[in-house]
Amino acid sequence: MSSIATQTEKKPSNDHSAKGTRTMKALVYQGGGKIEWKEVPKPGIEKPTDALIKVLKTTICGTDLGILHGKTPSCKPGTTLGHEGVGVIEEVGSSVSKFKKGDRVIISCISADGTCEYCKKQMYSLCEDGGWILGHLINGTQAEYVRIPHADMSLYAIPEGVDEEAAVMLSDILPTGHEIGVIKGQVKPGDTIAIVGAGPIGMAALLTAQFYSPARIYMIDLDDSRLKLAKELGATDTINSGSEDAVKRIMSETKHGVDVAMEAVGIPSTWDICQKIVRSGGNIANIGVHGQKVDLQLQDMWIRDITISMGLVNTNTTSMLLKTVESGKLEPKKLISHRFKLNEIEKAYTVFENAAKEKSFKMILSN
Ligand SMILES: [Zn+2]
Repeated sequence: MSSIATQTEKKPSNDHSAKGTRTMKALVYQGGGKIEWKEVPKPGIEKPTDALIKVLKTTICGTDLGILHGKTPSCKPGTTLGHEGVGVIEEVGSSVSKFKKGDRVIISCISADGTCEYCKKQMYSLCEDGGWILGHLINGTQAEYVRIPHADMSLYAIPEGVDEEAAVMLSDILPTGHEIGVIKGQVKPGDTIAIVGAGPIGMAALLTAQFYSPARIYMIDLDDSRLKLAKELGATDTINSGSEDAVKRIMSETKHGVDVAMEAVGIPSTWDICQKIVRSGGNIANIGVHGQKVDLQLQDMWIRDITISMGLVNTNTTSMLLKTVESGKLEPKKLISHRFKLNEIEKAYTVFENAAKEKSFKMILSN
């Protein structure tokens, strides 16, 4: 998940009491920085367009930590977290036509009705009856079962032979890095690009940027183990901005700065690096979820023809990325550092949160 969506016009609906008396376990946001793996009512089909999914594998996103830390007040206590995962369909509503019981599917972090004005323009993140609602405004995927609205538009069949763990990376991080970093940043062959932030999203941008053959890819982070992984995944140059001045080094090595600077952290200092290293005529692609305002140096940038872009992933390139995973061109399993059972998810959150100490990256939680 790349960008914060307050989506205040959409009403939260985390009512666990909707269906039946059967229960399941889920990771529920308790408010005040707390989460709990607890028993909740099992979801069921509520609308004819819904599918009920038994979760096979899910993961934890930086955005989930953002919710815990109060970055996303639109997510109310009582909501099951999680917007990524793969599962098997348990039941479909009467108007779901593309999927049936038993199908293995990728759950997209973005739900889309496919019919509203935004969906007609493939801007699914802005869907009037969807967008980023999973694990935010409705109960999410860090649970034994999840109800997925608008199933035909919001699920992707997993082709035979595609690994389930690799497929989890297609729920959010790969399309986010690709669409909001690489496509909006307009990466072209021969470009010099810089990705500020070597977390899962920055790394997804690194992997997918290489489809467009940039000549040079700088990866900037504070964590040497993440920079080492970035090198393995295709970065040509890495900079630890804690031990050296990233702006100075890039400006001295590139003459004019970088063609594309991607912000993949979401804090003022990383934004600042981007606006200082982008060359005239270049692009700043903001992927990070910001919880506070940044200092925009518009007075310096306006005359230099800088394009600034941002947004929440639309997942309109998910099918395309799935084909690259299927062919082995893209190997997202390299982003997985830890594996846990789903009922160990509280421990997994701790490991994920202490990323530098634990050398944690993407976690896989198996149900
Ligand atoms: Zn829509």
